[in-house]
This record gives sequence, structure tokens and C-alpha cells, in this order.
Amino acid sequence: MQRRHLLAAGSAALTLPARALDFAPPRAPAAMRISVDRIIDITVGIRPFRAQGPRIEAERLFGKAVVHHYGHGGSGWSLSWGSAERALALIQAHARPGERIAVIGAGAIGLTTARTAQQAGFKVRLYAKDRPPHVHSSAATGLWTPDSRIVTSEYATDAWKAGWEAMARASFKVHQSYLGLPSAPVEWHDGYLVADNGFDTPLPSYAVEPDYPELPLDVRPHSKALAAGEHPFHSAQARRFTQLVFNVPAYQRLLLEDFARDGGELVQREFKRPRDFARLPERLVVNCTGDGARTLLADTSLTPVRGQTARLIPQPEVDYAVIYRGRNVVALPRRDGLLVASMGEHDFGSDDLRPDRAHSEDAVRRLAALF
Ligand SMILES: Cc1cc2nc3c(=O)[nH]c(=O)nc-3n(C[C@H](O)[C@H](O)[C@H](O)COP(=O)(O)OP(=O)(O)OC[C@H]3O[C@@H](n4cnc5c(N)ncnc54)[C@H](O)[C@@H]3O)c2cc1C
Repeated sequence: MQRRHLLAAGSAALTLPARALDFAPPRAPAAMRISVDRIIDITVGIRPFRAQGPRIEAERLFGKAVVHHYGHGGSGWSLSWGSAERALALIQAHARPGERIAVIGAGAIGLTTARTAQQAGFKVRLYAKDRPPHVHSSAATGLWTPDSRIVTSEYATDAWKAGWEAMARASFKVHQSYLGLPSAPVEWHDGYLVADNGFDTPLPSYAVEPDYPELPLDVRPHSKALAAGEHPFHSAQARRFTQLVFNVPAYQRLLLEDFARDGGELVQREFKRPRDFARLPERLVVNCTGDGARTLLADTSLTPVRGQTARLIPQPEVDYAVIYRGRNVVALPRRDGLLVASMGEHDFGSDDLRPDRAHSEDAVRRLAALF
């Protein structure tokens, strides 16, 4: 049955058994309009990578109980809620129920930690040098990637993997509670993994990157191989998958609004050294400074990993992502634009925040060739 016939049939159509809908022909996905003149913004952000995985531990510093909570690599948005639950256990061990605590940092980790602490009954004051959209978290692509640059193979012991899995599952569950809201902070979208030379050929990797472990997780839906006529791309092979997407600006705004509604305060302040914590009125400080901890604590376990994204004019009719395997480009349909991300050869270890327009234009052209 054609889609318009279904609509014209009105309420009668609603009484059809669900299987009848299986006969509707698949709708061809709307083509992405990809060209360099449609780039409206290019953003650069830093992933706070630690070979050991995120630092979630407590220590006493200058008379304060300090809970460190940073180092989430390319997985900060994905793991945020589960990671915040781990930090909460440390907060509860060192603070009195209901007391006011300080959270430093207003990125994905600071905001979700603050909300998790509020929901557990704590009063929270957030201190941050920068707030959204001027934090690295604002530059994130917005994909559910709980295993992206989160640990190296060397440190991924069975115990570490079990902790990671618990964190990922807890986070996944909370993200689902943000579905269906008016500002669409979280959505599910189909995506296509496309390749010119098959899916099994090894991908070139940049020599400087460490070896990352496989971290399987069964909450991801399976992907499906498509025959040549079943996809619209100028590529030899395509697989369809379904993907959780974060509309980062809407998600950040909602977290900030919820935080304020529950009595949270946000104070602009930069901490130059840990001794500055001593001047805070709060007895417990949660340090969610991301890559900022590299300077603040002189923490050499953090490696900055630069990431650059071009944003093209929004296309509401495009509701699918594309990962072009072997061509180093990802496109994501967000509400605030079509995002085109591409890794640079020198990004690992770099904290250079200057946009490289030529790099993004190349990625846009590679993607355009698919349509
Ligand atoms: C290009 C790119 C794409 C990404 N894509 C994804 C993705 O698709 N999915 C995903 O899950 N993750 C993704 N990530 C990773 C994710 O964005 C990070 O893991 C996350 O941003 C880390 O959040 P954070 O809160 O620790 O750090 P930040 O966002 O850097 O926040 C740190 C906060 O601390 C404050 N601060 C720092 N130092 C100080 C100081 N000395 N004094 C006071 N305040 C301070 C800052 O002002 C800021 O408010 C991506 C990252 C990048 C860069």
C-alpha cells in the first residue's frame, strides 16, 4: 500500500494489523546536500584521553575531599551518566547527606555529575571557567560511542572491562529517558556504513595512536547488509545500522535548565592550582575539568586528542547518518545541522584549537562523491 493511501484511509488504516505495514515499499532516504558552500561553522574540541581510562577516585587536598572525575576520551557523552553514578558513590562516602558540594566543570561530565548529585539529594554549586557552548563537550559529534578512545589494550583488564560495561549500561538506560522530549536531546536514527573496498579490509591507522581493545556490548542493534538496489550511495557496499544520537546543544541546554530548576548555581571561576580549592566554602569538590586537569593538576596521564567538525545547513528531511569506511568521514543528521567529522593525521596528542578549513572541505568533498 502506498504511504499516501494509508494516510488517506484515515482512522480505518489504524485498524490494520501491524503486519500490513510490512508491504509498504521502503522509502528512499532523502539525499544529503553536501557542498563546501553549505558549511556554516567549523568547531574544534579536545578529547581528554587517558590510557588507563577515566580517573574516578577521591583524595584529600588542601583540607578538601576531592573526587576526581575526568579523562573520558571520545566517550564522554556516551558514558556520562554511568560514570557519574560511580563518582556519586565517592561523593556519598565523603559528604554528609544533603550538604552543598562543589562541582568544577560544566562539560558533559560536570553537568551530568551535578544532576546525578542533585537527584541524590545534594545541593550543588557548579564552578567553571567556561560554560556551554564554549566547552570541549560542545564540539562533540553526538554519537553513542562508549568505546571510543576510552582505554588502551594494555590497561583493559577483565576487571576494567566489567566496570566499563556496567558504566555503559547504566548510561544507556538514562539516555533513553531523554527520548521523546520537545527539544529532542536524544534520538535514534538509522545510519549507513558504506565502503568502496569491503568491510573486512584493514583500515590504515595513524602510527601515533595506541592499540585500543575490542569492547563488545549487546545493547547496540545489529547492522544489516544491503544489496546494491537497497541503498542510494555511489559505493560498492552498504550496511544499515541504527544509532543513538545526541543533539548536543539541546542536551546541554536541558541539563543546565534542569540544574537551575533544582536550585543549582553556576559560578564563573578559573582554578589555577589545586590550592585554590581551599578557598571554596564547600567541603567536597568534584573535579570534572576534562582536559583542563592536564594543566590544573599537572596530570601527565592525560593526552589531548583534537577533533574537528564542520556543520552544514540543517536538513530536517535527512534522518540518517553515514560512516564512509576507509575514507575517514562521518556525517550525522543533528537538529542544529548536518555534521561532517573527519580525523586529522596529527590530532592525537594535539591541543591546537585552530580550525583547519581545508581539512573539513576535503572531508565534505569525499562525502559529496557518495551522492
Ligand atoms: C570532536 C569531538 C567529537 C566527539 N564525539 C563524541 C561522540 O560522538 N560521543 C561521545 O560520547 N563523546 C564524544 N566526544 C568526547 C566527549 O566530548 C568528551 O569525552 C567530553 O567532552 C568530556 O567532557 P568533560 O566534561 O570531561 O570536559 P569539557 O567539556 O572539556 O569540560 C570541562 C569543564 O571544566 C572547565 N575547566 C577546565 N579547567 C578548569 C579550571 N582550571 N578552572 C575552572 N574550570 C575549568 C571547563 O571550562 C569546562 O567547563 C567527542 C569529543 C570531540 C572533541
